[in-house]
Amino acid sequence: MNPAAPTHPIARLPEEWRTSLAARGERAFAAKQVFDWIQKRGVVDAAAMSNLSPKLRAALAEEGLSPGLCVPEQVHRSSDGTRKIAVRLRDGALIETVLLPSLTAPGAPANQEADDDDDDAEQHGSSPHTRVTQCISTQVGCAMGCIFCASGVAGLKRQLGAEEITAQVLLGRSLLDEGEALRNVVYMGMGEPLHNYEATARSIRLLTHPDGIGLSTRRVTISTSGLVPEINRLGEEFKGQVALAISLHAADDTTRSALMPINRRYPLAELMKALHAYPLPKRRRITIEYTLVAGKNDDVAEAKKVARLLRGLPVKINLIPMNPIDASTLGPPSFGRVGAFQQVLIDAGYSCFVRKQRGDDVSAACGQLVLIGAKPKVKGFRPAQES
Ligand code: SAH
Ligand code: SF4
Repeated sequence: MNPAAPTHPIARLPEEWRTSLAARGERAFAAKQVFDWIQKRGVVDAAAMSNLSPKLRAALAEEGLSPGLCVPEQVHRSSDGTRKIAVRLRDGALIETVLLPSLTAPGAPANQEADDDDDDAEQHGSSPHTRVTQCISTQVGCAMGCIFCASGVAGLKRQLGAEEITAQVLLGRSLLDEGEALRNVVYMGMGEPLHNYEATARSIRLLTHPDGIGLSTRRVTISTSGLVPEINRLGEEFKGQVALAISLHAADDTTRSALMPINRRYPLAELMKALHAYPLPKRRRITIEYTLVAGKNDDVAEAKKVARLLRGLPVKINLIPMNPIDASTLGPPSFGRVGAFQQVLIDAGYSCFVRKQRGDDVSAACGQLVLIGAKPKVKGFRPAQES
């Protein structure tokens, strides 16, 4: 972090509050109060922090603790309960965050459709709440250039600060319906989280801090296109507790490099080495995301390569038929080809699911996020002609 740039109040950890407020001559208790206001109560306007002195409120407002950091511009609600929130940032940039309620009835045993924690005994309890997963963005646009992705085609506009990443969750939580509880946060919105490592790691520390939102670290999932040094660093710094989702999309370097330029920098052998070294806790698995693009990575020969490549790694595989985007003529394979691909992986002994697109009617599928000047076109899974 740049020491010249003070951490934004929303991104400050309790120990940093203690230091910064002590330097102002404030009592230690004030640090606890401010962190509580922001992270627990979701209040990001210093003027509303009624138990602080007027002097401190004014100083915090001066440091940026005032409304306007992350403003919900539009909330689109889909018939399946998914909410897509277009968020306006201070500089006018637009990002998106998505709330995805579990599709199971509150208290019912979790199933695969509901969320990814199918191996988590806690999920089988009788929580009275509808569990909500929030998908958040880490960048405006993305530098990785994957050819099937709207964010990649647009390029990187700028990084998000840790305060902007965290504020999406504070906002999302404030928009929950009665009876809903935020359980999982997935870094699968716009951008490559590990290309914004410092801000991403800080936001994880904030979201999982017990005095704040208090998410369980293993309910935080980082999705990455495969930045190997940062995967290693994440594994070390969070001791493997942060859940990992890898955007694989191909099991040979030629196919993968054609879809995802990052593969030229970190080819499959290096990526696999990092995944085998990731200090995954017992009984946890790495999620493998595989976007199926018609004619590019969807034949059974590729599925067999995937089966070979992943041998020995604890994984669950999510197949995602590609959502068409305006900037490209690429699209999803037919139902038949998706099914054949899945069958190869099931026959090879893997847990392999086809992800249903959620919130299609409001363009809310993760990875399909709105960009300034680029209208996303999300149609969900429309089968092409059977071939
Ligand atoms: N940059 C990270 C996280 C954001 S993308 C990553 O790549 O993992 C989240 C997921 O959406 C990725 O698995 C990505 O491959 C997928 N995705 C992007 N564009 C898509 C599209 N048009 N159709 C289906 N999935 C897409
Ligand atoms: Fe970036 Fe992920 Fe899109 Fe690739 S798929 S361009 S890494 S957001």
